[in-house]
Amino acid sequence: MASSPHLIEVALPLPLRQTFTYATDAPIAPGHRVVVPVRNTRVVGICVGPSDGASLATVTPKSVLAIPDAEPALPADLLTTCRWIAEYHVVSLGLVCRAALPVALGQAGSPVPRGRTERVLVLAGTLPTLQSREAAFRRAPQQRQAYELLESLGGRASVPHLLRQLGCTSAVVDGLVRKGFARIESATVFRDPFAAREGARAAEAALRPTAAQQAAIDTILAGAPGAAFLLHGITGSGKTLVYLEVLEQVVRVEGKSAIVLVPEIALTPQTVERFRARFGDLVTVLHSGLSDGERLDAWRALRRGEKRIAVGARSAIFAPLPDLGALIVDEEHEASYKQAEAPRYHAREVALIRAREAGARCVLGSATPSLESWRNAQEGRLQLLSLPARVGGGALPAVRVVDLRQELTASRPDERTRRQVLSAPLEAAIRDRVARGEQTILLLNRRGYAPFVQCAEGHVALCPHCSISLTYHRTPERLVCHYCQHQESAGRRCADCGGAMERQRGLGTQQVERLLVERFPTARIARMDADTTSGKWAHAEILERVGRGEVDVLLGTQMIAKGLDFANVTLVGVIDADVGLHLPDFRASERIFQLLSQVAGRAGRGPKGGEVVIQTRTPGHHAVRHAATHDFLSFAAEELTHRESPPYPPTLRLANLIVSGLDEVGVATFAGAVARWCVEAEARFALGVTVLGPAPCPVDRIKTRWRWHVILKSERVGPLTRLLRGLADGLEVPAAGGLRLAIDRDPVALL
Ligand code: ADP
Ligand code: ZN
Repeated sequence: MASSPHLIEVALPLPLRQTFTYATDAPIAPGHRVVVPVRNTRVVGICVGPSDGASLATVTPKSVLAIPDAEPALPADLLTTCRWIAEYHVVSLGLVCRAALPVALGQAGSPVPRGRTERVLVLAGTLPTLQSREAAFRRAPQQRQAYELLESLGGRASVPHLLRQLGCTSAVVDGLVRKGFARIESATVFRDPFAAREGARAAEAALRPTAAQQAAIDTILAGAPGAAFLLHGITGSGKTLVYLEVLEQVVRVEGKSAIVLVPEIALTPQTVERFRARFGDLVTVLHSGLSDGERLDAWRALRRGEKRIAVGARSAIFAPLPDLGALIVDEEHEASYKQAEAPRYHAREVALIRAREAGARCVLGSATPSLESWRNAQEGRLQLLSLPARVGGGALPAVRVVDLRQELTASRPDERTRRQVLSAPLEAAIRDRVARGEQTILLLNRRGYAPFVQCAEGHVALCPHCSISLTYHRTPERLVCHYCQHQESAGRRCADCGGAMERQRGLGTQQVERLLVERFPTARIARMDADTTSGKWAHAEILERVGRGEVDVLLGTQMIAKGLDFANVTLVGVIDADVGLHLPDFRASERIFQLLSQVAGRAGRGPKGGEVVIQTRTPGHHAVRHAATHDFLSFAAEELTHRESPPYPPTLRLANLIVSGLDEVGVATFAGAVARWCVEAEARFALGVTVLGPAPCPVDRIKTRWRWHVILKSERVGPLTRLLRGLADGLEVPAAGGLRLAIDRDPVALL
């Protein structure tokens, strides 16, 4: 061809922070997928814009092989958001774009399995006045019904679905089409396993917002494009209705689209059901149960605007909806919003960026907001909205704190051991519920415990410099601070009371289950943790059994603490509030406060009220004290002071540089080189970044890979970004020993 080629920049899914120049015959809009040659293979990349050819001084560019789609796979606001993630997290733009697209769209060559197609009825003419409506449907009441149902479904619905809903024949639909009020299109359908699940579909439309809910709704809707809100509403205050009403306006009235993020679909079936009940066919639920083909079909329906509300976990923030009007992040404090592998984005932060790019409103909601969001609200970057009371004036449940140390006074040794798991007050409370046919939820959070040491009085060995618990290491035997690398002998006595220190290990849910079976032989006990949940819907099924009243006592890890709303649950027990409190992690207190508050919020949601029993050896700890009084404000105030000196987020920003590899010495040596590089950069450019380490990670070996880390602290965002980019581009990772360097910015945990 004679026409001179156009040059474009293409982001490729390679761990290289650069784009590549290719030639095409015609210009390609940014966001388009392109198939390009890389060495001898065909790779799917994303066109990110025209190229000035600057990197082409010597070589001739290769040509794009194919442009698979008619329109860009990434709408403009999404591409800009991906760029932001790549820059901030110092990761390849191509890898970010790949994470933003369904797996099936990242593969070159293999044709993507298509879904079946079905007939969809789309609203055409408008009949704004009652008069015009009467005239149009004078002798066709069924057509009018169909027309109005179609309107209420957002102007688009599958024909079979409409016919089922109305119980009429296809002649009604044909009539509408003939009169020009609707037209038929064909659209791909996908199997939606969630749709087949028969949840309790509440009569959502019947709920009228309370004055407090309405005030929040009005403020959100009055917000300028890109406005961001923090909705702080106590458990049971009706946050979901606020989201639903905001979507009502944004989606049905303004005709825009929306994304709703929930921490984990399988754990929040009730919340998801409420969106489906209200918006029916407008909603697509993106969940881990979808096959690649189904995910692609769902993605296509969203991209074309056939579905206008995407509900899903973390990655649903990349739903390709055009014309976004609202982004909602429910339970915004949840750690699961942070991706554990590159790109290590946080969906909450991506939601804020995308809302700004798309001119949409962004609502972050929680009963226990993250301290980052709380600080942002205090400083005016988020507008704070509060729902301070439960709907219908219900009280929050009374909380009783049981000091496990007092249970040590029991006379017989076996009884002492048992009461460390099930104290006399908790056992009596469960017995009472079982007798009355009411339900109990028991929490044992055994998530990721690193061993710590504690005296009989409950004092924990802390780092003198960091107020972080010291981690017990066996070889050589010593206590280590994983923030500043302070070390001391494991044999020391308690600094507070002089008592002997003992190594603490976790107690498992299985042990507790055995004890429950033994103590309550007639009760129906269900256990829910990572081990009991093999099938895709196992969690949801256990929860449904609880909902149907087939379970007396539900025992589980933090996965039972989320948005459950069961009126017959009148007792919540926390087996050991201290599990996780002494993790070598500055967020440990915050997590425990959130967990205790959330699980306590499961009790007393019905007219029978409820009670919470928290077992602990540290009743004076601020996380326990403020959770017991349901007092987020006091907790936040106290915890924020703790985060000021020594400083931790949100007072400053952290980046965790994790070096891993197969050879322990090689890992330690390279971690040393990373730390030195950072120290030298700091010395040269005075960026204001503090470098800590290197040191072994608290979990120093995962899947045969040794792990060391270096921690960077900075008060300002920009200089930290500069240093991280310099490091990623300037320090070569040695090829030996499978060495890797991962940059985890704003880490949620340092394990
Ligand atoms: P949250 O998410 O804030 O903990 P939910 O949204 O689960 O609270 O609401 C708690 C309960 O209150 C639910 O059963 C919900 O149906 C009910 N509810 C919410 N708003 C109203 C309202 N305005 N009128 C009546 N019931 C409501
Ligand atoms: Zn320390």
